[in-house]
Amino acid sequence: MFQNEKPFELIILGPPVSGKGTQADLVAKTFNIPHISAGVILHNIKSNSNHPLADEVRQYMDNGKLVPTELINKLIAERIKNEDCKFGYALDGFPRTLGQAQFLDTIADLDYVFLIKVSDEVIIERMSGRRVCKNGHTWHLKYSPPKNPEICDICGEPLFQRDDDKPETVQSRLAIYHQETDDIIRYYQEKKVLKEIDGEQHIENVYYQIIRQMVDDLRSKIGWK
Ligand SMILES: [Zn+2]
Repeated sequence: MFQNEKPFELIILGPPVSGKGTQADLVAKTFNIPHISAGVILHNIKSNSNHPLADEVRQYMDNGKLVPTELINKLIAERIKNEDCKFGYALDGFPRTLGQAQFLDTIADLDYVFLIKVSDEVIIERMSGRRVCKNGHTWHLKYSPPKNPEICDICGEPLFQRDDDKPETVQSRLAIYHQETDDIIRYYQEKKVLKEIDGEQHIENVYYQIIRQMVDDLRSKIGWK
């Protein structure tokens, strides 16, 4: 038998709209481990005025600045020490830089690093087809089209494109993603822990690929062929 007291320490990397948050959530539910999202941690601190770091985090986020690495490192390190992480966790939104990846290796013993691969073309298509109404109902002109491309089927309000989904914003988000992530991907490739997942599939198929890889790995660790 293999011995690993914390067999489910995993991170999920991927570009915007790759569905990495959804997958982290599904995997977490499957193995009964917490889904830890760096974005959610920051958001919760920011909106909890009793938190000692609330003001500091708010200052960075409200001014569109990156939260400093030392601060986010500390928050992640604290979070994964929690009792609910005793068997592991599914982390997304961290690491964002090579330095953070190296730091993570000092506080964690990652069992799986998944990269959800989606081409830039598909990301642009997914984002540019998205339409929302003022009530937050979300449609996609190709994947979940409303009857009339300009009107929300649910509430009848006009549909519009969020600034985040406009071509120029999408291009710049992608440029930032590649700048941030290409180093991290190489780092995990060199350590031979990176598992690539085809993210241009339905949510369920992406999930099956991840689970399949984990099950195969666990079987081989246990010694089952
Ligand atoms: Zn609506």
